[in-house]
This record gives sequence, structure tokens and C-alpha cells, in this order.
Amino acid sequence: MYIFKTVAALQAHLNEIRKTHQQIGFVPTMGALHQGHLSLVDIARNKHNYTVVSIFVNPTQFGDAKDLDHYPRPIESDIFKLQQQQCDVLFWPEPSEIYPKNHKGCKIDLKGLHLNMEGAFRPGHFEGVVEVVKRLLDIIEPDTLVMGQKDYQQCAIIRHLIKSLQLSVNLIQAPIVREKDGLAMSSRNIRLSPEGRRKAVRLSATLFQAKKNAVLMPLHQVKSEAIKSLNEAGIAIDYFEIIDGLQLHSIDNFEQADLVAACTTVNIDGVRLLDNIILKGNKDR
Ligand code: AMP
Repeated sequence: MYIFKTVAALQAHLNEIRKTHQQIGFVPTMGALHQGHLSLVDIARNKHNYTVVSIFVNPTQFGDAKDLDHYPRPIESDIFKLQQQQCDVLFWPEPSEIYPKNHKGCKIDLKGLHLNMEGAFRPGHFEGVVEVVKRLLDIIEPDTLVMGQKDYQQCAIIRHLIKSLQLSVNLIQAPIVREKDGLAMSSRNIRLSPEGRRKAVRLSATLFQAKKNAVLMPLHQVKSEAIKSLNEAGIAIDYFEIIDGLQLHSIDNFEQADLVAACTTVNIDGVRLLDNIILKGNKDR
């Protein structure tokens, strides 16, 4: 696996790769890699063979400087995992490479997609995500971008970015990889106490039940049942929303949208855990 720290070296390499007519699949990450991230690498490789992964803890998407400082950076084990996964290139830049002095941000109208759910709890977060993903796409010019359904709102916003700027990249939304007991894999799970880890199982169980309930009862009841289930387990809820899967606004009628998802973030042991499930429709849009 090649490791590049500068934009110039990476681009020189990718220009050579393109001469051999290989297409490039790209997976942006912030490192602390787990099986969920690695499943994205597999998808990128199976699609195009030539796989680029970035590890960049993006300062512009963190509201809280402490959170940014404490973000795990186990680079040695990340490199090992990527090598095992037959990743071709790791791009591991410093912030000055991504945001040079002459860097112009990416200002697009997010049509309010960034305001509810995660956006309401993390003001400015999605503007930072859009800025870094656009910059990485400009640098790498991949044929395919693979991102996880785990971050449902993020995926929808990047889909909007690609559409509104007519970028020539194909976005694949990869399924959520879960632990055996259903908990969605996340770099944050290791911060849970044993008790918190046991509680956390209720999160996915509640979403799986919501999917069953969605064909049996009105959506407002699906939502109240889900909130009751999380409350019973003593789990603090930041939000639980049933949304139009493309526009991301809350809906109360299953017929209101072709794509419907339930998205939630809860707080256990001070750790924010995100999860979601598609209740209706095809995710690959
Ligand atoms: P992050 O490093 O947290 O920014 O995540 C990088 C990418 O991995 C994002 O597109 C996430 O949605 C995706 N991802 C994170 N956790 C999972 C998971 N459990 N299953 C699938 N994809 C995931």
C-alpha cells in the first residue's frame, strides 16, 4: 500500500494509475478503523479495483476543540488494517494540505438538509463535512465515493452536494455493519462502560422493532413506541425522527414519501451513538 501525505504526491501517483485505465474508488474516513470502515473499502475495491482511503480528522466539522483533541488516532493499527484489506493507497494529510492558505471553502445551499437531527445538536458540523468531502473529491477525482448509511444525514447531504454541483462521481451508500448483538459499529463504542455497552443493545433492537411496527401502526405510534422502549432502558435520547429519506424532514404518514427512514441519536455514558433503519424504499438513490 502506498501512503501519501501530500496532495502533489498523491495526484502524481493517481495520474499514472489513470493512464492504465483503472477507475478509482474512494473511502473518506477519520481513522480509528473498524469492520464498518473496512466493509466500505471492500465495496470500493470490488467495484473498481483501485482503492484510495483517506484518514483525516477534519477540524472544521468539530464544534468542540476538546472533542477534536480527544479523537482517537491509532495510525499504526489503521495502516495494518488497510494493508490487510488490500487497500492500494492511504492518503494521510496534515490540515495544511487540505486547507492551504489560498483554500476557498465550498458554499452551497444545503436546502435545510443540515438543520435538523444531527445538525440541531452540532451547528456547523455538516458545513464542515461538505467542505472536506468537496476538497477531497477535488484532489482525488474518484469514479466512486463510498460512504456509510450509518451516518444517514451525512450521506443525504453529500448526495445533494454531488447533484447540485453536478460532480461526476457515483455515490454508493454502504449498509451498516453491526456487532453480533446488533449495535452499529462505531469508533465511539469502546468508550462505553460494560453497563452502558449492555444498555446500548436496546438501540438497534428498538429500530428493528420500529421497522416491524411501521407496517402495523401509524408512524406517530411507531415513534412513541420507540421512545418508550429507549426510555424503559434508561437511555437518554437526543432525537428520534421518522423522516422522508431524501428531504430529511419528519413525516407522520408512510405514504408521504417513497423512501422512509427512522434516525436516532442517543447518549449513553456521555457517548453519542447514532443509528438508523430504512423503513421503506430502496436506499440506492
Ligand atoms: P468516520 O471515520 O466515522 O467519519 O466514518 C467514515 C465512514 O465510515 C463514513 O462514511 C461512515 O458512515 C462509515 N461507517 C462508520 N461506521 C460504520 C458502520 N458501522 N457500518 C458501515 N459504515 C460505517
